Amino acid sequence: MMSAKGGDALDSRLSGQGYRSEAGRVLIGIPAYAHACDALLGRDSAAVPNTYIDALVQVGASPLIIPVVDDQDLLAHLINLVDGLMLIGGPDVDPVHYGETAHPGLRQITPSRDRMELRLTVWALQAQIPILAICRGIQVLNVAAGGSLWQDIASQVPNARKHDQHPDYREDHLAHPIQIAPGSRLAGICRQTRIDVNSLHHQAISQVGQGLAVVARADDGIIEAVESSGEQWVLGVQWHPEWLVARSKAMLALFRAFRDACHSHPAVAGSPGVWPG
Ligand code: MN
Repeated sequence: MMSAKGGDALDSRLSGQGYRSEAGRVLIGIPAYAHACDALLGRDSAAVPNTYIDALVQVGASPLIIPVVDDQDLLAHLINLVDGLMLIGGPDVDPVHYGETAHPGLRQITPSRDRMELRLTVWALQAQIPILAICRGIQVLNVAAGGSLWQDIASQVPNARKHDQHPDYREDHLAHPIQIAPGSRLAGICRQTRIDVNSLHHQAISQVGQGLAVVARADDGIIEAVESSGEQWVLGVQWHPEWLVARSKAMLALFRAFRDACHSHPAVAGSPGVWPG
């Protein structure tokens, strides 16, 4: 229990002029992991690794962690609050969402997180809310847009390189180069068309979803980035830029570009549609 003295000291420090955040700060919704967390005695938790949070904070954006819930009204409230949606890494998407049965190479799935993220992503696409989708995120984005995934690159894509570098290498290990399409939004952000990226995925996009364009591939043809083919700021990357912001201006620029898009996207009135899942 807080002592009266400690409370008074804090109150006196907070009771001055109050505090206003800087004008123009954007709010970014981040759907959380649904995992049991060791630090919380194995209890199911809403967790977002700090690497994602730190990258947003570094560019002056405010992260809002969205818990894994099934309550449509709550999720609709939150998606209407945020200026942007950031989809992060995690386990495999249940292939039922793209009309396939489980391949033997499929790993852990989290159905409750799938439902929440697909719902939020469909709404964000409908409402033109900017989306930055990382690793599992690009896969959720693609499935939300009606596309499909390789359930296990190593067993389904002949001659593919090893994209699943975890846990043999550090998360910031530059595993392979990617080729970026000239003239793409991503090329404009990175100011180059060939960069080295980390690679911590065993799945990837197979059939590309509606309204998405492939803008980067690895040297084996695996899709490494997509963006909206329309006006909406939507960027999905198969690598983990949040681990690279300290060493790469291009990766920091990616988060800055997302922040800027969230500043300027036009608000769309109306309530979100329904994800039929
Ligand atoms: Mn890769």
